[in-house]
Amino acid sequence: MGRVMIIGGGVAGCAAALAMDKAGHDVAVYEAHPDSGADIGAFLTLAGNGMFALTQLGAAEPVADLAFPLTSLRLTAATGEEVATAPLNPGADRLTRYQCLRRADLGRALRSTVAARGIPVHHGARLAAVDEAPGRVTARFGDGRTAEADLLVGADGLGSTVRPLLDPAVVAPRYVGQRVFYGYTTKAAPPTAPARIDMIRGSTAAFGYAVSPDGETYWFARVTDERLTEDEIAHGTPTGWRDQLVPLLRRDTTAAADIVAATDQLMVTNAHDLPDVPRWHTDRVLIIGDAAHAASPATGQGASMALEDAVVLAKSFRDTGSTTEALTTYERLRRPRVAANIAASAQLSTGPSRPGSPPVDEDELHRQLDWATPL
Ligand SMILES: Cc1cc2nc3c(=O)[nH]c(=O)nc-3n(C[C@H](O)[C@H](O)[C@H](O)COP(=O)(O)OP(=O)(O)OC[C@H]3O[C@@H](n4cnc5c(N)ncnc54)[C@H](O)[C@@H]3O)c2cc1C
Repeated sequence: MGRVMIIGGGVAGCAAALAMDKAGHDVAVYEAHPDSGADIGAFLTLAGNGMFALTQLGAAEPVADLAFPLTSLRLTAATGEEVATAPLNPGADRLTRYQCLRRADLGRALRSTVAARGIPVHHGARLAAVDEAPGRVTARFGDGRTAEADLLVGADGLGSTVRPLLDPAVVAPRYVGQRVFYGYTTKAAPPTAPARIDMIRGSTAAFGYAVSPDGETYWFARVTDERLTEDEIAHGTPTGWRDQLVPLLRRDTTAAADIVAATDQLMVTNAHDLPDVPRWHTDRVLIIGDAAHAASPATGQGASMALEDAVVLAKSFRDTGSTTEALTTYERLRRPRVAANIAASAQLSTGPSRPGSPPVDEDELHRQLDWATPL
């Protein structure tokens, strides 16, 4: 294949850079942000499958170093009664356990691994246009720069520039009917246990929290409501969001309202998904991660899907004979996997609205992600 240009230095972009570099390609990353990736300031959980993908890319250790592990989940009803507890990914080792970390720390760990491999990352490079010609692809950036490669990978997220260049008729991301609030606090003392994530099936919100080993509570609340306008998000304040959320959560006898009331750092975003992107690639341009297939946040799998994409993409190039075959193989393997996650997440957000795809067989997935095994 030769030269690979990756647009976007977020989760998918950094992981694809590591994977394609490992497969022997000459990789460069172009990121719009002047000094890091885009960061909405929230935290995320990385599931065992995402961590396993990171082990294959040699990036699990730096991520685990900045995260704290989650080994069990407790589900509570709106009354505060425990409904169930379950182990998370039992038998996993330190690097393949569920992990919880700030988004900025995940970006930092991935970018430092990319830098340590000597992969160039060009910051402040916002892609504006793509010219595809037989045998090569040229990217044009907003500041007038251009770059050429044999393959362009669009890893530029939900608001992708590459996606409509592949198909101008592609539909915009869909609001799934929920606002997601996030926060951190050291001033709350909710019921907890080491390495446990608590999920509360509240009457007004799906609420989740985990307490880090140094006593900081990380929490989120998914609330069904109208989509927030850009203006509301831009002008909202942490105090204002907290004043909206606490009375809703007070209707239940759970720890949720007290956690939020004790929080000063609070953020909100609309939850979107992107289930139906018909065209993922041309001869020399491909989209991956949220640019191709975003799920709403409910299953907490979007970043892990992006990490899986990266490994399967590089193996598709490694194990097939041509770019066409590699891109076809990649799409054949990834479509059912991401469709199942998008459907599961949408079901948790809005109730069943589309036929669920059958889940992908775990052994088969492990085989696809294991670098030592042919696809
Ligand atoms: C509220 C919320 C909570 C979530 N929680 C979880 C969770 O707990 N677990 C989980 O696994 N997932 C979670 N997700 C999903 C996860 O964040 C995404 O699936 C993941 O970030 C996708 O990675 P990506 O690299 O495809 O996109 P992004 O992370 O959005 O990265 C895209 C990158 O491309 C850059 N870029 C954009 N346009 C251009 C351009 N024109 N030129 C150059 N660069 C460009 C951006 O600056 C950015 O750095 C959550 C999402 C949300 C919204």
